[in-house]
Amino acid sequence: MKAVLPLFVFIDACGWEIIKDDTFARTVAPQRRRLDSVFGYSSACVPSILSGCWPVEHRNWSYFVYDPTHSPFKSLRWLRWLPRAITSRRIFRRWLSRFVKVQLKFRGYFDLYNIPFQHIALFDFTEKKSPLQPGGMNRGANIFDFLEIHNIAYHVSAPARSELENTNDLIDALNKEQIDFAFVYWPELDGLLHRVGNRSPEIPPKLRGYEQQVERLLAAAGSHYEEVRLYIFSDHGMANCDELLDLRTRIEALPVKMGKDYAVVYDSTMARLWFFNEQARQQITDTLQTISQGRILPDDELKQLRCLFPDRYFGELIFLVNEGVLIVPSHMGERPIRAMHGYHPTDKHSYAAVLTNQSAVPEDIVAIPDIFKLMTRDAQFAKSANQLPVEPNRPPPQSVPELETA
Ligand SMILES: [Zn+2]
Repeated sequence: MKAVLPLFVFIDACGWEIIKDDTFARTVAPQRRRLDSVFGYSSACVPSILSGCWPVEHRNWSYFVYDPTHSPFKSLRWLRWLPRAITSRRIFRRWLSRFVKVQLKFRGYFDLYNIPFQHIALFDFTEKKSPLQPGGMNRGANIFDFLEIHNIAYHVSAPARSELENTNDLIDALNKEQIDFAFVYWPELDGLLHRVGNRSPEIPPKLRGYEQQVERLLAAAGSHYEEVRLYIFSDHGMANCDELLDLRTRIEALPVKMGKDYAVVYDSTMARLWFFNEQARQQITDTLQTISQGRILPDDELKQLRCLFPDRYFGELIFLVNEGVLIVPSHMGERPIRAMHGYHPTDKHSYAAVLTNQSAVPEDIVAIPDIFKLMTRDAQFAKSANQLPVEPNRPPPQSVPELETA
C-alpha cells in the first residue's frame, strides 16, 4: 500500500459546454471549474498543459509553417503529378502520412492533412517530437522532464495504443504499485465530436463510458493507494460548424500568386499568411477585410493571447473566423466536418474544464496551462508521501508543499 496517487485524466475536447449541464463525473469529482483555453488547436493546447507555458514561450503552436529552407517534404513534390482524385483522398493521405512519419523520424502526431503537393516543399512541420514524452517540447521542459529530473515514477498513455489498452496498462501499473503519478490521455471524444457535433445523442453515452473507466481506475488505485487525487480535465471544447467559408477561392481570385507573392496555410478556423511583396500584403489584407465571417487579429490581441511571435514564424497575418464558421476546403480538410475547435478562446465553446475530488479547485487554476502547476505540486507531494511507511488508519495527508516549477 502506498500513500498518494495523483491521477490526471485528460479527455480531449471535453469542454465546459459539453459537461456544464451534464452530471459527468459528479460523484467521483464533484468540484469543477471552467478554464480558459489557449488560442490554437490541440497542437497548441496539449503542449501548454504539459509545460505550463504559453505558445509564445514553448513555440508549439500550429503544425505547418512557411519555411522552404528547412522543409523536409521536398521529396514529395513529384506527387503533384498524380491526379487529385487520388491525392486528395483521406485514405491515401493517411497511408502516406504514416510512411512519411517513419521516413522523417517524427516522434509526435503527424498528418499531411490536405496540404497540396504542389506547394508542400514550402512548408515545415513544427511538431517533430512528441510532447507526451520527456524532451518533447520545441522549447523548455514539460511535466515528463520534471518527473524524470525528480525521479518520480509515472505512467503516461501511449498515443499509438487505444484508450482501453492505455487504461488497462495503467491498472496493471497501479496493481503493482509501480508509480507515484499517472497521466491518462483519452482522445476519442474529440474525434466523435468532430464527426457528430456537440448536440448529438452519441455524446452522453461516451461520457458515461468515461465515467466507467474512471471508476475502474479509482477502484484499482483505491486498493493500493490511501489517497487518490483525481483531476479530470480538457484542453478546449467543440463548436458545431453551421457555415462554410471557401477562403481559398477568394484569395486565389486575386492577381497575386501563392508561392511567388505570398504563402498561406489554411487551417480549419484560421488562415496564416506570409507576404513576399507589398502588393500581395495589400491585396490580401483588403480582401480579408471584406469577409464578414472572420477578422484579422491585431498584434495587441495576439500578444494578449500569448501567440504573438516576434519572428512571425507561424505567419505574418492571422485571419480567424467566427465561431461556427469552417474554412472549406482548407489545408486541414477537403470536405466539411460537423464541428471544430480553434476559435477565439473567449468564444462560448472554446472553454475547457477541470473536475476534481479535492475539496476545491485552487484559486490560481484558471487557464489550461495552470494544470501543470497542479501536476508538479501533487507529483512532488506524492513522491515525499510515498517514501514514508504507510500507517494503518493514518488520516489522509493534507498539506501541499510549495510549488516548484521545472
Ligand atoms: Zn480536435
